[in-house]
Amino acid sequence: MKKLIDKLYETGSLDQSEYSELISGRNYELSQYLFSLAREVRKRYYGEKVYIRGLIEYTNYCKNDCYYCGIRRSNKNVSRYRLDRDDILACCKEGYELGFRTFVLQGGEDPYFTDERMCDIISRIKDGYPDCALTLSIGEKSRESYRAFFDAGADRYLLRHETADSAHYGKLHPDELSSDNRKRCLYDLKEIGYQVGTGFMVGSPYQTAENLAKDMMFIKELKPSMVGIGPFIPHKDTPFADKPSGTLELTLFMLGLIRLTLPYALIPSTTALGTIAPNGRELGLKAGANVIMPNLSPVEVRKKYMLYDNKICTGEESAQCIQCLKNRVSSVGYEIVTDRGDAARAED
Ligand code: SAH
Repeated sequence: MKKLIDKLYETGSLDQSEYSELISGRNYELSQYLFSLAREVRKRYYGEKVYIRGLIEYTNYCKNDCYYCGIRRSNKNVSRYRLDRDDILACCKEGYELGFRTFVLQGGEDPYFTDERMCDIISRIKDGYPDCALTLSIGEKSRESYRAFFDAGADRYLLRHETADSAHYGKLHPDELSSDNRKRCLYDLKEIGYQVGTGFMVGSPYQTAENLAKDMMFIKELKPSMVGIGPFIPHKDTPFADKPSGTLELTLFMLGLIRLTLPYALIPSTTALGTIAPNGRELGLKAGANVIMPNLSPVEVRKKYMLYDNKICTGEESAQCIQCLKNRVSSVGYEIVTDRGDAARAED
């Protein structure tokens, strides 16, 4: 097994059966070995730096009905909200003063935000903050829409593929959503010129080691600039309310594998990881992650953007959040920087 980790470290790739063998055969000792190599690789490209992204959750309306997600359209217990353009710009202003140089607009797939409205918001943000990168995380759109957002100034796009296996995808989503379309979106985004981020949930219902190995193969093929993963966490008002959460241990192992597979990638230590364990995000950094995405949404709406139960950081003001994170990051020997934090090098 150790040989497989060495091979991954030396060549940056394994075949699917090797990834699968490693994932199924992992143990504490192997994990520690993987993390030490992941830290070394991460240090080579990014030193001790941790980049921060200000996350603005601007709408929890969603036309989709993903079985795992707390803001799915069938959840009638959600109190729905939208931020308007001025609210969003106010979040950016506060974030800029706190040192953020990347803003991430994330939301449900909300038809109220037409391409025209989105382009207006994007161009206002870029006019006001030309030294900042703007990331969108607003789901599956047509190629034309992606192009329009890019032309309006968006730099990056996050769209997790969720699972690369289409049969597994079908167990997590209703029939109108498909793995093929999600992948089509990712390739369109890349071709248009976005820095693209993909990723998946760890421990989602019905997931196997083979599925995770397939996720690694997909990531290897797409060569995204960013890869976001986090544990699946059940939400009480979804069909998966009774399913178990993904584990800290497997999520960290997957982070290590991703760092060795894509040495240049920007990899967040996610809020979901911090939700399943009090020091989850610190451990994520020690397993190879180098990005943190604090919440910049107004405190009044934070509890309404509940993708899963017990989500952390929904009570504090942004300024408090960032101070807490600075302490957490420095406790494990890393340092938050004020920087756009582009990938060290394009993957291809
Ligand atoms: N509508 C956008 C943003 C989705 S929310 C889109 O479709 O891309 C961002 C991510 O949260 C999702 O891609 C999913 O991987 C994750 N997520 C959703 N529900 C979750 C849950 N119950 N547990 C853990 N992660 C979840």
